[in-house]
Parts: sequence; C-alpha cells; structure tokens
Amino acid sequence: MALSSWLVTTTNKEVAATVSGLYGGRLRRTDRQQEVFELMLDRDAIAVNIDGPGSVVNRMVLEQEEGRGPIHVCDGSNLLEPMDSAGDLCGCPKSVFDRKAAARSGHGPKPDARLSFRLAAAPGVGMFFLASSSWEFSDSLSAAVLDMERGASGAGMEICLQRKVVTTRSGMAVSYVHPILSVAEPDFVAPVHLQLAA
Ligand SMILES: [Zn+2]
Repeated sequence: MALSSWLVTTTNKEVAATVSGLYGGRLRRTDRQQEVFELMLDRDAIAVNIDGPGSVVNRMVLEQEEGRGPIHVCDGSNLLEPMDSAGDLCGCPKSVFDRKAAARSGHGPKPDARLSFRLAAAPGVGMFFLASSSWEFSDSLSAAVLDMERGASGAGMEICLQRKVVTTRSGMAVSYVHPILSVAEPDFVAPVHLQLAA
C-alpha cells in the first residue's frame, strides 16, 4: 500500500529475469545469501489469469496486538472463524461508512484480501500472490468472484494500481495508491491510426 509501484519478490532468478524483461522492472535488492530478488515494475497495469473463485481469499480481520492472532474474522456479516461459531452473525455494522470508521478506530475488522494469479504474458513461470488491506481491492475481488461464479472467465483480467488524491478535512491533499482487479480493457486503437482515419 505504501509503495507507488508494483514490487515483485521471487526466489527464482529466471522468474526475475522474465518479469523484468516483460515489465521493465528494476532490481531493487538482491539477497545473495537467500537468493531473493525484488523488482520494482515500471507499469501500473499487469494482465493476469485467475484460475477461478478459489484463487481469492477475501475476509475481514481484526488482529490482536503483538501478533497474537485475529480476534474477529468475518465476511462483513457472518463469522468465518473460529470453526465452532462460523456462520454466526458477527455484529459488524451494515453500512460501509460505519465499517470503515470502526476499522480506523481499531474496533472493527479491515479487509484481508488475497489473490493468486498467473501472468497472462508468461503463465508458465508460476503463481504469484498479492495481498492488500485496501477496501477498493477487496471490493474488486468480490465483484470478480461474483462474475466468475456466474460463468465469467478468469482469463483476461488485470491488476492495476489506481492513484487517488484526496483532500483531508484540514485541506491537505494526500495522494494514495491502491491495487484493484478488473477485466482488462480491450486494446486501445493507437493515436496514429485515429489520425489516419480522420
Ligand atoms: Zn464482522
């Protein structure tokens, strides 16, 4: 969330080279001892293939302090954990506004949204994982799962970084970046063709 571009982490040198070749990634860091490669990509939109609804984990989680595990895990209206109370009403507010306010104050859960995907340009290099606590990303995953459950293909999707500037109550402009999953735009006609056609 804090980063303004995609960061790809891999332990595989060939995967790092392939990704860098496709998206112009700059090697940010290499840990030679552990063979970890970090690439900052130059592109906001990455075409991906999703296997199906099972590639998405989209929950609301309120963590305890000091990493002692979650206190509240739900889907917004029903508990998902612990197993013996799964399905019970969780008590989260119905309105998104109230949910966000509860999460901000530390009393309510925030999104824990995870996606497994393949690169459409190089499906053979393996699975990648993206996790975010962004509400927008969580909403986009819910919409994609609904589409796939109705029979839409998980191919031809893209993960994209959206940049927003919001003005705080004190009048300060703050820019932030969040990921979303969406159906890939069809290829745009290049401007040169538009000129020729005119
Ligand atoms: Zn809840």
